[in-house]
Amino acid sequence: MSASGSGAGRPRINPAAAGLLAFLAVHADLLHPVRGPCGPEAIEWRLAHAHPCLRCGAIAMVAYIAGTERGPRWLDLCRSCDQWLRAGSAAG
Ligand SMILES: [Zn+2]
Repeated sequence: MSASGSGAGRPRINPAAAGLLAFLAVHADLLHPVRGPCGPEAIEWRLAHAHPCLRCGAIAMVAYIAGTERGPRWLDLCRSCDQWLRAGSAAG
């Protein structure tokens, strides 16, 4: 969460999130934009309103906020896809 670095004035893109999007083969335009502050309460709210897993369509149990070039977007995943994503992205 450091604000250091160059590129002031340009929206900061979370490279991990961009990698996740590529890994999931989804485009930021297809994801729901995050409205309001991107805090833990937003994630709790998101999880309280069942959304389908991006990968398999099951009820999502995990929600990530991905900082994309289009702004913050929701990444909804079920437990197994979350584990798949963690394992896969960790493996490179
Ligand atoms: Zn899933």
